Amino acid sequence: MNLVLQKEIATKSSLLHTRIVIARSNVTKQPKGRATSTPWFASAPPRNDGPGNRARLLALAAAALFAASAAAAASPPDIQFTTLFVQPLISPTPVAGADGWTHLAYELNLVNETRLITRLDAIETLDADSGAVLARWPGDALAALLRLNSGDSGATLAAAHSGWAFLEVALPPGAAIPKTLRHRITTTRFQPAPGGDAHKSEPLDPKYGLPATITFEGVDTAVDSRAAVLIDPPLRGPGWVAFNGCCDTLTSHRGAVMAFNGRSLIAERFAIDFVQLDAEGRDFVGPADNVESYVGFDAPVYAVADGTVAEATDGAPEAIPGAPRTTTIESAAGNHVVLDLGEGRFALFAHLKPGGVAVKAGDRVKRGDVIGHLGSTGNSDGPHLHFHVMDGPSPLAASGLPYAFTSFIGAGRFDGDDSAVVDGKPLKIDAGWFPGPHVGQLPLNNEVVDFPEK
Ligand SMILES: [Zn+2]
Repeated sequence: MNLVLQKEIATKSSLLHTRIVIARSNVTKQPKGRATSTPWFASAPPRNDGPGNRARLLALAAAALFAASAAAAASPPDIQFTTLFVQPLISPTPVAGADGWTHLAYELNLVNETRLITRLDAIETLDADSGAVLARWPGDALAALLRLNSGDSGATLAAAHSGWAFLEVALPPGAAIPKTLRHRITTTRFQPAPGGDAHKSEPLDPKYGLPATITFEGVDTAVDSRAAVLIDPPLRGPGWVAFNGCCDTLTSHRGAVMAFNGRSLIAERFAIDFVQLDAEGRDFVGPADNVESYVGFDAPVYAVADGTVAEATDGAPEAIPGAPRTTTIESAAGNHVVLDLGEGRFALFAHLKPGGVAVKAGDRVKRGDVIGHLGSTGNSDGPHLHFHVMDGPSPLAASGLPYAFTSFIGAGRFDGDDSAVVDGKPLKIDAGWFPGPHVGQLPLNNEVVDFPEK
């Protein structure tokens, strides 16, 4: 893979690497889109035969359509011209989080199919059967959960731009899990301001008869009726921080949408970067650029269930923490093991220590077998175990699935201050965060957990 492409990918996806919390920071500022002289509305490329006829025809069509809808009084029309194409990426699989709530994490692909500028004012998720509102994100909250492919920030899709909304519905303990999710989406449309900048807008001219703000419903997605897979933790002992974990924050894992053979996938949707802290709350003691300074380095990594090794690699060297590195799709996971858990589920254990991978493809392993040791190989900026479950054997070309651990003890929550992680200072931990024993749950983002010794 060439370097330019690698750099481009690096701005958009985690490629498994980052042990520190970089919530929302992957939104890389990029230059504004190239100026265009295409008239408003049409998504077709600029034409040489003059903009007038095409734009006028489309405007007339819209005027006719919306003369009817404007007369339909308060309740939104069943069928509306939305400017946005909205498509769910997956059918979400419910999982119990350490907070006792049921979490449904999923994404909507948003494509502004027109030359209009479209601002997202709100997205609501409904139970399609009862109509109950399960979650609501007004524009400000939505902006934090959006990744616009242009690199723009905010919640406005410029002309012909696209992006992703990384959503999570959390249901309180005991609540029924809906069969189907529906979406109610409010947008406001603007026309491009003169000058050709796809981002500069002005209010829609009323002469077009197109309502600026609309609310529409649809974009149904079924909820997966399967439960999250129940597995043992891949590590043992105290003080493991679940960095870049699920579900309500746009972490480097959650936002790692990558297309393979034309299909968008998020293998790392539920990935966790496990970093171990010592009794003082530090993740390393000694020189920061030596992997052996890190508390979790060389910790045994365990098979989370009985299974067959689908893939195992060894021989990649340790990356020096903090040093620049070159990573490809193929080398991102470093030394790693993919374990086939059955029923279309595969577990990835990434960045393992060189020379320590104890299994090879085709081996049958038992729950609790040591399969390798924690290291910092591949796209890793310090020793940690990147762990996730997915629906296929490829570490990145698969769709991430949730999982729950048989048992762990809640030991607080990291406050998210990255500088402590980098400086080797004790991390600030809020001990009141879901303390005590947990059974059949997924540790949530930045949670600190103690895993059973056996
Ligand atoms: Zn990771």
